[in-house]
Amino acid sequence: MSAAPAAADTHCPYCALQCAMSLTVSPSGPTPVTVAGRAFPTNRGGLCKKGWTSAELLGSAGRVLQPLVRRPDGGFDEASWDAALDLIADRLRDSRARFGADSVGVFGGGGLTNEKAYQLGKFARLALGTSRIDYNGRFCMSSAAAAGNRAFGADRGLPFPVEDLDAATTILLLGSNVAATMPPFIAHLAGARAAGGLIVCDPRRSSTARLTEDGAGIHLQPAPGTDLILLLGLTHIVITEGLADIGYLESRTTGFDAVRRSANVWWPERVQAATGVPVAQLRAVARRLADGRGSYILTGRGVEQHVDGTDTATAAINLALVLGLVGTGRSGYGTLTGQGNGQGGREHGQKCDQLPGYRKITDPSARAHVAGVWGVDAAVIPGPGVPAVELLAELGRAGGVRCLLVHGSNVVVSAPDVSAVRAGLEALDLLVVCDFFLSETALLADVVLPVTQWAEEEGTMTSLEGRVLRRQRALDAPAGVRSELWIMAELARRLDAPSTYSTVPSEVFDELARASAGGIADYSGLSHALLDTGAAAYWPFAAGTRGTPRLFLDGFAFPDRRARLIAVYPRINADAPAQVGGVLTLITGRLLEHYQSGAQTRRVPELINARPEATVQIHPATAARLGIVDGDIASISNARGTVEAMAEVTINIRHDTVFLPFHYAGSQCANLLTEAAVDPVSAMPEFKRTVVTVAALRAV
Ligand code: SF4
Repeated sequence: MSAAPAAADTHCPYCALQCAMSLTVSPSGPTPVTVAGRAFPTNRGGLCKKGWTSAELLGSAGRVLQPLVRRPDGGFDEASWDAALDLIADRLRDSRARFGADSVGVFGGGGLTNEKAYQLGKFARLALGTSRIDYNGRFCMSSAAAAGNRAFGADRGLPFPVEDLDAATTILLLGSNVAATMPPFIAHLAGARAAGGLIVCDPRRSSTARLTEDGAGIHLQPAPGTDLILLLGLTHIVITEGLADIGYLESRTTGFDAVRRSANVWWPERVQAATGVPVAQLRAVARRLADGRGSYILTGRGVEQHVDGTDTATAAINLALVLGLVGTGRSGYGTLTGQGNGQGGREHGQKCDQLPGYRKITDPSARAHVAGVWGVDAAVIPGPGVPAVELLAELGRAGGVRCLLVHGSNVVVSAPDVSAVRAGLEALDLLVVCDFFLSETALLADVVLPVTQWAEEEGTMTSLEGRVLRRQRALDAPAGVRSELWIMAELARRLDAPSTYSTVPSEVFDELARASAGGIADYSGLSHALLDTGAAAYWPFAAGTRGTPRLFLDGFAFPDRRARLIAVYPRINADAPAQVGGVLTLITGRLLEHYQSGAQTRRVPELINARPEATVQIHPATAARLGIVDGDIASISNARGTVEAMAEVTINIRHDTVFLPFHYAGSQCANLLTEAAVDPVSAMPEFKRTVVTVAALRAV
């Protein structure tokens, strides 16, 4: 490998906005590189505090710099790479021989580069021969992806460039706190705010909801878990007030009659009773969306991370289709992807039912195409596996997964019902974790393999708008650290795997591009060299084309080119918690200062000092009823566990709801409380509607 240059243009290592940044090597500086925001359409030179401080992690004192192998007494010993990889290969071989190929599992991540995500899917299916691969995007984008696929035949988070939002006069933002999660994005809401048309739907008066104040828009504050009813109510109003775009529905969609019937019973007064959103607000929002001046509907995890998340995202799409917004070039529907490569991470084969190019693993022609690229017989590619929650439930069980390789994920903080996940990990014969740090999951591992960070590697990411971006190397990795491509190649060699496993990112990308050719997410016209020119590379980008900034302008991805309206029905909230005693609904979410499980951001001094621990938001009236004052330590508990957090008494939350951030571990881990129940279509867990009991624990 050639020496790293003194400077590099790249993108932020965290969220899917993929803000552009320039890195300059600073050997005598406080961090190995200095970070500067770079002009780019999504961030316009801006970065949030996570991006500004991202270089802190490169030289962090807690970084793992040599493979670690568990000792019999429970501690770790440093090991050579050969020793660590030989040990892993021996144990994997033994497990496969004794218990079958599916006794080995792989858990990937939405932060991996496209090259790593692609290679991981290939490695799992060919080198390990297992069907047991899935990834943490199942907890993030799976409901919106499933809804987009069944309505449009394709799932690209934003099927238009982010900049299109600048011209919008109305934006309905459902369940997304962008002011905290991706602050540079709010510049794209300025036009809608100036027109009085920013509509934010969130049970909390979040920092994004506050952007609607002073005449900038409307804040809808429904009860947690009632978003589907809210959307049916808006659809009802649009239809009954004659605001539906009948010409669009007749020429570009199917299924309107069934959706009309499903919305028919959700008249505004009934929706108000179920959601708490006033009729006047519902009517104002429906009329505003239909005013024809450029309306967008955007969903986020707040409405998607439910056991009915796919149906809720579908209801949002139905509303957009009934209004005639999608595929027009001046309005639209989109979902705001969360993880840095949440989009690319779900396109290249990390999902249990998928092959590269967003192809179904059960499709014989897809199997034949990918097998041809891999140089194997299609019969050797395993069939579909099981999604993340089910895979984690199999850990250590008879007939289940006995060895697990984890890449880019901290499941003992991020998965639902983490006590059960921890027990499963502890029951494994072998747990291998690839990470930069001893995350909470790595601390349970038998072997920890230290891997390169973003500034130390070449690769590509795909942003929330489906644009493929180059990640360029500014630094050489520390001596004992390796790339995951190298690790997979070395293990594949030891396991006598079929096919080849390049360690050169541009070569892996070229293979990925060939494997994706003809698929929904077609990268076949792309290469690192082309991306290095700064080309605006929106997929599908087939060979011989110039890419597709705006999808669906000439039809949807079905043979008849029509979008599918799909009738969805709420499951009546029979288990809604009675608001008595301390029984409340818990919603979980993110803070400005932290990212995902916090495995990285909790190690950045500026970020952890700003938000050192979890606080539980609780309404003043509720707090008074429970004898809790601001600053008390409260217990939040249910049958699965107890979280202890300082009370933040605030009017920014409904009286029947409490909020915990999910970035913390130990007794502050919000996922001690969440349940492993999943959406029947997407297998998304329920993260946003958990029944808990809240009580004062002690005053500090
Ligand atoms: Fe990084 Fe996202 Fe912050 Fe941009 S908004 S700097 S991509 S974390």
